[in-house]
Amino acid sequence: MFIILLGPPGSGKGTQSDVLIESLQAIHISTGSMLRQEINRKTELGLAVEKIMREGKLVSNELINQIIKTEISRLDLTKSNVILDGYPRNLTQAQYLEQVRGKTPITVIYLSLDEQEIKKRLLGRFSCPNCQKSYNVFFDKPIRENECDNCGKVDFVTRQDDNESTILNRLIEYRKETEPLIEYYKDKRLLIEVDSSKSKDEVSRQIIEFIKRS
Ligand code: AMP
Repeated sequence: MFIILLGPPGSGKGTQSDVLIESLQAIHISTGSMLRQEINRKTELGLAVEKIMREGKLVSNELINQIIKTEISRLDLTKSNVILDGYPRNLTQAQYLEQVRGKTPITVIYLSLDEQEIKKRLLGRFSCPNCQKSYNVFFDKPIRENECDNCGKVDFVTRQDDNESTILNRLIEYRKETEPLIEYYKDKRLLIEVDSSKSKDEVSRQIIEFIKRS
C-alpha cells in the first residue's frame, strides 16, 4: 500500500513518517529529504535544484517523477507499505503516480493545520545533523541546551528553507499546487483528514487506526 502524507509544510509529515516506519515497518520516500541529500553532496542534481528549493518553489514534475519511478522500481510493492512524504505535490504528479503504481492501493492522510501554527512550527524547528531528531524552540527543546537528547551530539542545524520569506513562498505553492489534491483524493474516497494540531501521539493513533481499517 502507498500511504500518502498530504499537508502544508510543517504539518508533521516527517514526524509522522518516523512513527509509521516503526509501527507499520513501512518504507519511507521523502522527495524533499532526497533532494536535500543531493544538495549536501553537491551532485549535479543538487546544484540544479538548490536555488529553486531556497526560493520555496517546486522542482519540475519531470525530475521528481523520474526520482519516484526509480525509487518505486526498486521495491517489491506486494510486500511493503510505502510512505510517500511530500509526493505527489500537484495533479500532474498524482496522475503520474496512478500510472506507475500498478495495482498497489493508495490511502491518503491529510494533515490539516492552520497558518499561524504552520509558521510557528517552521520558524522554530531545528534538528540534529547526526541522528536527524527534530526539535522546536517554542515547544520541544532538548533537555540540555545545544545537546541532542538522542545521540548527545552538540550543535544543531536548521533547514535553509525555514526562513520567513521562503516559508511564504512555500505556502503560496502549497495553496496553488498541492491543496487541489485534497478534493482529488476526497472524490476518490481515499482521504481522511487528521487534525495535526493535536499531540503527536494522538495524530499517530488516528493515522494507524485508519490504515488498519483500509
Ligand atoms: P519538503 O521537505 O517536502 O518540505 O520539500 C522541500 C522542498 O523540496 C520543496 O519546497 C520543493 O522545492 C522540493 N520538493 C520536494 N518534494 C517535491 C515534489 N514532490 N515536487 C516538487 N518539488 C518538491
